[in-house]
Amino acid sequence: MKKITSIKTRITIWYTSLMFVLIVVVLSLVGGLSYQLSIDSVEKDVILQVTQVTEKLSKRQPGVFEIVESKEEFKNVSIYAIDGKYLVGQYNYDVVNVPFVEGIPRRESLDGKEYIVYDTRTPSPSGMRGGFWVRGVESVNSTMLLGRSAIIIMLILIPLILLLTALGGYYITKRAFRPVNNIVKTANDISRQKDLTRRIEITPDAKEDELHHLSITLNKMLDKIENLIKQEKQFTSDASHELRTPISVILAQGEYLLDIAKDEKEKELAQTIVDKSKQVSKLVSRLLLLARIDQNRQKFNKEKVDLGVLIDIAIDSMKELASQKGILLFSDVAEGTIVDADESLILSAITNLISNGIKYSNESGSVSVSATKLGDRTEIVVADNGVGIAKEHIDKIWTRFYRVDDVRNDEYGSSGLGLSMAKSIIKLHGGTITVKSTPGKGTEFRIVL
Ligand code: ADP
Repeated sequence: MKKITSIKTRITIWYTSLMFVLIVVVLSLVGGLSYQLSIDSVEKDVILQVTQVTEKLSKRQPGVFEIVESKEEFKNVSIYAIDGKYLVGQYNYDVVNVPFVEGIPRRESLDGKEYIVYDTRTPSPSGMRGGFWVRGVESVNSTMLLGRSAIIIMLILIPLILLLTALGGYYITKRAFRPVNNIVKTANDISRQKDLTRRIEITPDAKEDELHHLSITLNKMLDKIENLIKQEKQFTSDASHELRTPISVILAQGEYLLDIAKDEKEKELAQTIVDKSKQVSKLVSRLLLLARIDQNRQKFNKEKVDLGVLIDIAIDSMKELASQKGILLFSDVAEGTIVDADESLILSAITNLISNGIKYSNESGSVSVSATKLGDRTEIVVADNGVGIAKEHIDKIWTRFYRVDDVRNDEYGSSGLGLSMAKSIIKLHGGTITVKSTPGKGTEFRIVL
């Protein structure tokens, strides 16, 4: 069975059950007590009636038989001859055979019914064949009728009270927990939209309870996190910016050294300086671009871009790398496939995907690029039949600096920033980029603009 996870429901179930137990205990106590009290009062009433009739009989007051017979004052009393023969009064078939016991009120169960019976004996007056038995009888069941109807009322009332308690309590807890819902909603919004500027809503008339303080504390924490992330982005942006000039100088000097190198050894050294400076320069430009997009500072020149032309340019720039590995490049773009985009940004995203296709393909593979208009959307697909990406890596490849295979990637001077950059660029355009891959068979990146 699934465990109940909502605190609201658990609290409601807990106190409704507690309420139920309380009602049952209180009702049983009250019921038991009132039953005993009503029996006591019936007993008293019977004893009183019997005593009065006995007194009248002892004093030989005339007309006692008539009074008893009239059944008003002494409706529970009957008079028997001393040998047990019924004479007058309440005739009750059930108790007629119950033996007489002097002066002890008692309960008798007869044929499933209960009675309170009380007998006394008048002193034996002369000439009256040994006096009389005076018997008082009252059925207990009849006294309980009142109690029974109270029980029936309670049986209807208990569920009603419980229902009201449960509903009322659930409503109150729901209201009390509203700030928690707000907190959860804000946390979800932040993680879904990656928008750290969102805060937990605190209404001015909110009660200053624990949850209110929690919301304020969480908002303060979000302020701090947002500031830290802002500082980090600013640092990346500043650092990349500062590194650009020295790297350009190193690259220029390296190229100069390459030009004036006297022998193979010097040439090799200079070439390494040039290659590595190009690699660092590319890395720094990507970092700078990412930092600018993160800070919403990236210039974004939307214009009509002909994807046929753009993809040709991308393929051209990759031709040399492809031919070094014997990889064929194909493109398939219908004429007039135009998109509204920033040309240079989209170009670097697509170029990066083609370059990955080449890097992660085996010799004599192929990379194809296609673009299709589907209604008001445009789909660009870059597919290769290379090494593919294993399932456990597929979600992580978009993470900055993530590389599946460090050793292999080092050969190409990979940075692990290409895909995160492509994703940021596509997101900036309001589009999506997704990947499908089968290890050993190939990979397909799909951009929808
Ligand atoms: P890198 O500069 O390392 O290529 P990317 O961000 O472009 O960085 O790619 C991240 C990782 O994803 C790469 O290290 C590589 O392992 C994997 N990857 C990207 N594209 C492909 C592809 N077409 N085929 C196989 N693996 C790929």
